[in-house]
Amino acid sequence: MFLFKGCKGVTFMTESGIRDMLTSYDKKNLKIATVCSHSSLQIFNGARKEGFKTVGISVGEEKKYYNGFPLGKPDEFFIVDSYKDIVKCAEELKEKNIVIIPHGSFVEYLGAENYLKLDVPSFGNKKVLMWESDRNKERTWLEGAGLVMPKEIKNPKDIDRPVIVKYHGAKGGRGFFIAKTFGEFQKRVDKTKSYVIQEFVLGTRYYLHYFYSPIQDDAYKLSKGSLQLLSMDRRDETTIDEVQRLGSIAELEELGIHPTFVVTGNIPIVMRESLLPKVFKMGEAVVEKSLKLFNGLIGSFCLETVVTEELEFKVFEISARIVAGTNPYSFGSPYSEFIQPDLSTGRRIAQEIKYAAKHNLLEDILT
Ligand code: AMP
Repeated sequence: MFLFKGCKGVTFMTESGIRDMLTSYDKKNLKIATVCSHSSLQIFNGARKEGFKTVGISVGEEKKYYNGFPLGKPDEFFIVDSYKDIVKCAEELKEKNIVIIPHGSFVEYLGAENYLKLDVPSFGNKKVLMWESDRNKERTWLEGAGLVMPKEIKNPKDIDRPVIVKYHGAKGGRGFFIAKTFGEFQKRVDKTKSYVIQEFVLGTRYYLHYFYSPIQDDAYKLSKGSLQLLSMDRRDETTIDEVQRLGSIAELEELGIHPTFVVTGNIPIVMRESLLPKVFKMGEAVVEKSLKLFNGLIGSFCLETVVTEELEFKVFEISARIVAGTNPYSFGSPYSEFIQPDLSTGRRIAQEIKYAAKHNLLEDILT
């Protein structure tokens, strides 16, 4: 175990960024690191299968639960006092030849600003953060790609259908609420916070897990590189997904019990095969648009969708990195099985890094 209580402090990325960082790297002995949470078991397991050594970044102590999962345990731990300290440990992480795999919790715990400052090679394009974390920019990107998003209602007085109210910065659906009328909205809304009002789309939810490689074109070909569909899931959200056991939502709301959307787990799912062409078309359009807007996203991304009874997709969110919904597929999914047996998203990421290191293309997939 490595204990870094006193890291050297924040270093800043230079103009030439990733190229400079990689000059001191031994590219034959890269180590894969991530924060011990979210999808780390899968990332470490996938990296191990591709022959990488792994490092688990953990706050305060080694996480004991890994002892229960030896094949998902990192080879070593890198202990920090707080997530925010990771930025100060850039030099120490680089000395260890580390490539970071950012997952949803990594970026959340560190904070987007700190993550942007982090002077350690990271898988993916950091610029994507600006486009996914700002709801207006996200809409410009996704609608600009031709995707259909839930209608946004600017003035609450115009609520003429069920809506979902989302507070800015709310994570994992915490604090969202449903309203069916302006009156209901008025009763529930916290006016001290900023929010958006979105049409509540009726249908079935599918969270689609793609992998975009800008450097390999042996899959669904795009103008540059190629796209894969690795898996899909449905989130398990408390209390909305089970609240009906107690009564109808309308009945419960009368009693002051309001459903919440806090993610607690993920359920594996497949969709009717006739929808797959649309799934690829959406993924393609999102990548092509990202290439025009900010040089392209890289690697894993997820479109969060609702399929309506007309079999149309409405996309309410994009996550541009590995999502926890890939966790049911540590040993492959009904889709990835048709690409390669035993292919998790974590393993696919490790393969991309291995390929890039071998062909001197690391600058194309890391920032
Ligand atoms: P989000 O934080 O945007 O991923 O939303 C959290 C959860 O709220 C989602 O997983 C869905 O269950 C639900 N949700 C979000 N937006 C919508 C929408 N426009 N229509 C229906 N359900 C939604």
